[in-house]
Amino acid sequence: MHPYPAGESITVVSPSSPLATGLAGAILPAMEGDLSTPRPGLICPFEKMRPSQLNRDDAFYMALAFNLAVDAWRIDEVPIGAIIERGGEIIAAAHNEVECANDPTAHAEMLAITQAAKKIGDWRLNECNLYVTKEPCPMCSGATIMSRLNRVVYAWGDPKMGCMGGAVELHSLPKLNHRVQVTSGVLEGPCREILQAYFNMKRGRDSTASA
Ligand SMILES: [Zn+2]
Repeated sequence: MHPYPAGESITVVSPSSPLATGLAGAILPAMEGDLSTPRPGLICPFEKMRPSQLNRDDAFYMALAFNLAVDAWRIDEVPIGAIIERGGEIIAAAHNEVECANDPTAHAEMLAITQAAKKIGDWRLNECNLYVTKEPCPMCSGATIMSRLNRVVYAWGDPKMGCMGGAVELHSLPKLNHRVQVTSGVLEGPCREILQAYFNMKRGRDSTASA
C-alpha cells in the first residue's frame, strides 16, 4: 500500500511555532487545519484529531499531543508530540525537533518542559501534567523528575528506551524526593501507529535511495 494518499494537500508548521506564535498559535492551527507551505514528499497519512473541547480528559490532551506528532512528520521529524497542562490550561506544546535543530536534546518533552517553566516563571512544575505520545526516553524521564512534574501521561510504552515503565522505572528510584505519577496507554493505538508508519516510510525511502 502506498503510504501517501493521492491528492492530500499538505502543510508544514514551523518547528519553532510553539515558541514563535504562542500556545494558541501552536494548538489552534493544529486543530483547525494548517496554514503553512507544502513540502513535497512529506505527506503524513494520518489525519489530525478533533477532540471535543467539552470533555478535557486524558484522551483530549493526548489528542492534542498526537496532532503535534502529525506536524512533526510533515517536517520530516520523528512524529512525537507533547503538551503540558496546568489547571485545564495548555501552557506548552512541542514536537520532536532533533533534525531541524540538529540537537539531540530537542525531544518534544524537553522542549515542552522548557516552555512551561518559562510560561509560569518557575522551573518547578508541581502543578503541571505532561502528555506525550511515546514513553519518555532516559533523558526526558529524568527531566520530568528534575522539573517536578505532577503527572506524566504517555500513549505508547517503549520497551527498549522507555524509562517510565517500559524498560525501567526511573521515577521509582527509592530515594527520590519527588514522585511523578505515571499513566500509560492513553490513545496508544494511533500514537504507536504513526511512529511505526513513519519508520516504515523512512526505511522504504532509504532502500529506494540506495537501490
Ligand atoms: Zn526523550
